[in-house]
Amino acid sequence: MYDLIVVGGGPAGLTATIYAIRKRLNVLLVSKDLGGKTNFRLELPGVEDYQIIRGLEIVGKFRSELEYLDFARHMEPVERVTQHQDAFAAHTQGGGELLAKAVVIATGTQQQRLNVPGEKEYLMRGLCYSAISYAPLFIDKTAVVIGDGDLALRSAAELSTVTEHVYLVGLSSGALDSSLGSKLESAENVTVLAEYRVTEILGGDYAERVVVEGPQDQEAEIGADGIFIEMALIPNSEMVAELVDLDSQGRVKIDARNRTSVPGIFGAGDVTDTYSEQVLVAAGEGAKAALSAYEYLLPTLGR
Ligand SMILES: Cc1cc2nc3c(=O)[nH]c(=O)nc-3n(C[C@H](O)[C@H](O)[C@H](O)COP(=O)(O)OP(=O)(O)OC[C@H]3O[C@@H](n4cnc5c(N)ncnc54)[C@H](O)[C@@H]3O)c2cc1C
Repeated sequence: MYDLIVVGGGPAGLTATIYAIRKRLNVLLVSKDLGGKTNFRLELPGVEDYQIIRGLEIVGKFRSELEYLDFARHMEPVERVTQHQDAFAAHTQGGGELLAKAVVIATGTQQQRLNVPGEKEYLMRGLCYSAISYAPLFIDKTAVVIGDGDLALRSAAELSTVTEHVYLVGLSSGALDSSLGSKLESAENVTVLAEYRVTEILGGDYAERVVVEGPQDQEAEIGADGIFIEMALIPNSEMVAELVDLDSQGRVKIDARNRTSVPGIFGAGDVTDTYSEQVLVAAGEGAKAALSAYEYLLPTLGR
């Protein structure tokens, strides 16, 4: 039996695993991949690698350490985590059962897709998620934000502070009934296309235009330097949905020490209800979760 199983190999899970190794815990990282969302990065014409600090570089050191320590990782999806008397079992896709005294859930979120022509082709080439990560690259440029909800409003508002123009597409009526919504409606460099939907993404080497259809079937094309899909993120929390408390959006609820509602299960990163989806936040949360798990395990540890 392991002391600790960490599920998820993104910034949160990688950091938690390395911290656990440093604490000499018998730890296993179980994940579909190493790096998580840091494996995706937006490419833009005219923006060279040296101009921006990439999340990938920040977690890259931890990742390569784990690639070397192959005894500490197991690459397979986890389908469910169950609780036994004084242990937890991670049930893997292939039918395996991995036992541990404690578990860190660090499985991140999934983005919703538009499912329109051009989306797959241009993904990460001018078309991306996470406007808050890339807004500083859009000074005096034009951006399109697609989405209906808080994330789209926040992304458009942040981009509007630096861009020449932002188009916000896909809001339903009523979505602007907030102070942020009013700010966007009155901003001179924001065009809100409520009740419009995106039908296609067009471009050359990079995404360049969004085709939209209005409520009266009117069609238009919007040119942009960057296009962001900002629909609500879906937490990968199904595996513990019947075990720990989740918030109304399905995120794992944690306290300031990354403890979930079940002693011995900890949460870290985007899958939790912690604030802000960013690499450094997730890495810090991973470190905290590992230290918290270590404290939980301490009475069971010996030479
Ligand atoms: C396109 C894009 C660009 C971004 N750019 C930046 C940026 O420049 N700067 C920045 O700070 N933030 C950026 N972000 C946000 C940042 O990447 C995330 O906040 C961060 O990766 C979250 O880390 P995490 O470890 O919580 O989750 P993730 O990185 O999502 O990792 C989750 C891990 O869990 C694994 N997993 C999921 N389900 C299972 C399962 N059932 N079984 C086993 N393993 C599973 C996955 O394979 C993955 O390894 C970006 C996000 C996106 C989408």
